[in-house]
Amino acid sequence: MRAIVFDQTLKFCTDTALRSPGSDEVIVDILQAGICETDLQLCKGYMGFCGTLGHEFVGIARLGRFAGQRVVGEINCACHACEMCQRQLSNHCPNRTVIGIVAHDGAFADSVIVPDRNLHAVPDHVSDAEAVFVEPLAAACRIAEQITLTGGEVVTVLGDGRLGNLCAQVLRHQGCQVCVVGKHDFKLRILQRLDIPTIKLEDLQPRRDSDIVIDCTGSPTGLAHALQLVRPCGTIVLKTTVAADQTLHMAPFVIDEITLLGSRCGPFADAIELLSQGAISVAPLLTATYPLEAATHAFEHAVRKDALKVLFDVR
Ligand SMILES: [Zn+2]
Ligand SMILES: [Zn+2]
Repeated sequence: MRAIVFDQTLKFCTDTALRSPGSDEVIVDILQAGICETDLQLCKGYMGFCGTLGHEFVGIARLGRFAGQRVVGEINCACHACEMCQRQLSNHCPNRTVIGIVAHDGAFADSVIVPDRNLHAVPDHVSDAEAVFVEPLAAACRIAEQITLTGGEVVTVLGDGRLGNLCAQVLRHQGCQVCVVGKHDFKLRILQRLDIPTIKLEDLQPRRDSDIVIDCTGSPTGLAHALQLVRPCGTIVLKTTVAADQTLHMAPFVIDEITLLGSRCGPFADAIELLSQGAISVAPLLTATYPLEAATHAFEHAVRKDALKVLFDVR
C-alpha cells in the first residue's frame, strides 16, 4: 500500500506492507488525515520514531463494531491489563503504543490498524475534513475534564496556531472569558471573526488577572509569559511539549501558589459532540489538501508560518 514513512528522512512509499491485525484490532481504510505539530517534531527526531506517520484521521472500518462506517480513532493503544489501565489511566499505560507516534504505524497510508475499542463512529453530517479535527479537538476538551469550570473564568490562551485556536473555542463554549495572545495577524483575524478577543504578543502587558493561562506556544518562552499573566492561586495549563531544555525560576509557583497542569489527549466523544452541534468552527483552520504522493510538498507547506492545518486526501 501507499504510505508516508519517516526513517531518518521523510519518504513516500508505494510498497509498504500492512501487518496483520491482532484479534482486538481493525483495519481502517483512510479517507483523510491531518499533519500536526507532533508530526513536524517527529521529523526532527522527537521520540526517535521510525515508521508510517499520522495520527489525526478519518476512515472506514473494515470489520468490528463499526464495520463499513466512517470512524475516527483514539491514538493511545493500551494493554488494558497493567495497574495504570486498571486505575482507568489507560492513556498513561506504560506498555502502550501510540498511533503514528510510538511503535505503531500511522494513518498517512491507505490503511491503519487500530484497536476496535479505540474507534468512534462519525455522524453523517460531520464532514471528513471536520472529522480529522476530532483528535486535536479532544485534546482541547481535556482541559475541561481536568479543571472544574463554572463559567466566567478569565482565560488567556498563549499561541494562535491550530491547538490554541481549538482550546480558545472550547473554553469559550464552556462560558469562559477567553483572550488569545499570538504573533500572526491572519491567525488572530480568524479568532476575531469567531468573536474571540486577541492581543498581539508585542502589545502584551504583564497583568496578573487570568484565572487560567493555557500555553499552546510550543516555545520555551511560553511558560515565562504565562507566569506574567496568571493570578495568584491560578492555573497554568501546558498543552505543548517543548523538546529543548528549559530553565525557569520556580519560586513564583510557591509564593503565588500557582498550579501547573500538564494536559495531553482528551475525550473523543466530547469532541465529536461539539463538531456535531456545530459549536466549534474548524473550516477556517483548513489550509490545503494534498494527495499522499505529495508528502514532501505537504510537509513543507505545514511548517510555513502562514499554514494552519494541512490535510492528505487518501482516497
Ligand atoms: Zn496531533
Ligand atoms: Zn496498560
